[in-house]
Amino acid sequence: MNLTVTDDLMATIRTIPNYPKPGIMFRDITTLLGNARAFRRAVDELVHPFAGAKIDKVAGIEARGFILGGAVAHQLSAGFVPIRKKGKLPHDTVRVAYSLEYGLDEMEIHRDGVSPGEKVMLVDDLIATGGTAEGAVKLLKQIGADVVGSCFIIDLPELGGAQKIRKLGVPVRTLMEFAGH
Ligand code: AMP
Repeated sequence: MNLTVTDDLMATIRTIPNYPKPGIMFRDITTLLGNARAFRRAVDELVHPFAGAKIDKVAGIEARGFILGGAVAHQLSAGFVPIRKKGKLPHDTVRVAYSLEYGLDEMEIHRDGVSPGEKVMLVDDLIATGGTAEGAVKLLKQIGADVVGSCFIIDLPELGGAQKIRKLGVPVRTLMEFAGH
């Protein structure tokens, strides 16, 4: 049987109902990451549209975006830049407040993490409302990055995040969709 990429990878995601709070279906990618074949395939598929784009840096959002972003950066022969929860980065930072599907928070990037004009791709595991990714795009633009794309394994299209990021002029690559939250 020849499964599509989506069906193949979707089968490796574990869903935990009502975590971290009632009504949320938590899409757990640790089961995908723990499957060697699925992890490689997911990274290959995420980078596919960007293979010729001469990306300088991959920006990953803490914490699952670090795991994927590191692998994506390696695959694209790009550098890696972390976007972290506030107070974690040791050097001079810029900070942005952003809204989450379940809360409010602030995140930061090193001011010198990207040089002005560098081509950057943003990576995270999942896009829901797009609040996190929007905050990350703002941070990257603030330090002069040319944000040429973003990629996520999972899209929750009913929450409109991917559309929100496309409206900012940033292409969005996702590998599968789940209905609801
Ligand atoms: P948002 O800012 O609403 O797009 O939320 C995206 C961020 O929250 C990502 O870093 C995800 O890892 C996490 N997240 C949001 N909703 C879920 C969910 N249903 N399952 C797993 N992670 C989620």
